[in-house]
Amino acid sequence: MSWTDLIGFLETWLPRIPAPLALAAVATLGYLVGRRRRSSQGDAVVQSRRELRRAQTVARELENISLLVQKHLAKHQASLSRFKHRVEQLDSQQQDAAWRELCLEAEEMLKPTLQLATEIASAYDGIRRQTNSLMAFTDVRTDPLTGVYNRRALDESLASQFAMRSRYGSIFSVAMFDIDHFKDVNDQHGHLRGDQVLQEVARLLDENVRETDIVARYGGEEFVIVMPETGLEGAGLFADRTREDAAKRLTVTLSGGVTVALDGDSSDTLLARVDAALYGAKNAGRNCVFRHDGERIESVVESEPVK
Ligand code: GH3
Ligand code: MG
Ligand code: MG
Repeated sequence: MSWTDLIGFLETWLPRIPAPLALAAVATLGYLVGRRRRSSQGDAVVQSRRELRRAQTVARELENISLLVQKHLAKHQASLSRFKHRVEQLDSQQQDAAWRELCLEAEEMLKPTLQLATEIASAYDGIRRQTNSLMAFTDVRTDPLTGVYNRRALDESLASQFAMRSRYGSIFSVAMFDIDHFKDVNDQHGHLRGDQVLQEVARLLDENVRETDIVARYGGEEFVIVMPETGLEGAGLFADRTREDAAKRLTVTLSGGVTVALDGDSSDTLLARVDAALYGAKNAGRNCVFRHDGERIESVVESEPVK
């Protein structure tokens, strides 16, 4: 069902419900249509916090529009009751002057009606635009299989973190996780099960991170997490706690690397360093986390340097 069909449907079948309610219906349906489209791209797509944020934005916009419409409706209501009162008076008087007054009254009444119609039309357009752009925004930045951010969103997030770092001196760290022996999962249980495991890992990462962190699928079975306002120590603690949680709850284990953004870094050098830390974890036997401080690569728990 297209938006034009949807609005046509509402206008045909729900002409008597108050405008704010009709708008609420449009926004809610828009949100649901967006959700259906997303979930059809992959079974049991992770119900990420991004979806919640999208719904919240639509709801906020809706609230503003509803308030506006309600305000105009109240004005309209007052004009109508004045008009009704005049007609009642006219019944008993039937005078020319009263007719003229009535015409003026009717004209006054029409003004808010026309304004109301314009408001409703632009409110529909507003919600439509809002939902469309939100859907477009999430679609091009979200990995369809796992529901977390994709590489493009990661690049944008890193660029903005670097901008914040150079402007305000704020720190940030990144973690990179790679599923251990993932090839075996595919080989032994098939790609469908492999895809399911990817979704489970994404969900676990999404549950473990802070509200302000960004979880992105970096490659096939690799995930990167951007952690604003987090130093190397904190990033290591988070990554190891997450690794431990995965080992407890999932059928696969994770290896991880962490590093902190340093002076002179770019996205490429930062990602190369976190990749080197991850490589250290793989070399050390997997299911562990290593960190790279710019000079040394070491385990986040034992502090044993590796060559
Ligand atoms: P290691 O512990 O060293 O990381 O071993 P590994 O088997 O996880 O690593 P390797 O790089 O050899 O294998 C990664 C596998 O990930 C190979 C590829 O088939 C699989 N893969 C990549 N993307 C997807 C995907 O979208 N779905 C599925 N099911 N598998 C994927
Ligand atoms: Mg890999
Ligand atoms: Mg792997």
